Amino acid sequence: MVLSKKLQAALNDQINKEMASAYLYFSMASWLHDQNLDGMASWMNAQAIEEMGHAKKIYSYVYERGGRVILDAIDKPKSDWKNAVEVFTDTLAHEQLVTKSIHALLDLAIKDNDHAAKVFLNWFIEEQVEEEASVESILDRLKLVGDKGVGLFMMDRHLGERGGH
Ligand code: MG
Repeated sequence: MVLSKKLQAALNDQINKEMASAYLYFSMASWLHDQNLDGMASWMNAQAIEEMGHAKKIYSYVYERGGRVILDAIDKPKSDWKNAVEVFTDTLAHEQLVTKSIHALLDLAIKDNDHAAKVFLNWFIEEQVEEEASVESILDRLKLVGDKGVGLFMMDRHLGERGGH
């Protein structure tokens, strides 16, 4: 079964959103590095790489379904933040937008009666629950420890343990 034109267009749009997420998170990582918050920067870099993985997963799926990927321009990301709390507040808001867009994709697949696409999208639905929960918990703890001193240092070290990048 071929993807409907509408679903194909929406999947293409989602590839752009995942790449835009990666771009935003790389921009945040760079700001965090600049603030000597290397642990948080490392966490954010890992997050950016994950987003590119999401884009690639959708890219591959479109081809698997006999569709065509057309890439669009990626918006210039924000490059300055007030503090780490603002970075993670923006991250949470961004992930909530992505969740909405994934839910809209699933709505389309349901309308199309496209069972295969529904199964494919379920992975993303679950992934978004995890993404929002992990960012929310970081944000809660950051607000608790405040924006400087030992608390911030400890949070930075803790987030750096995600490591690898
Ligand atoms: Mg994503």
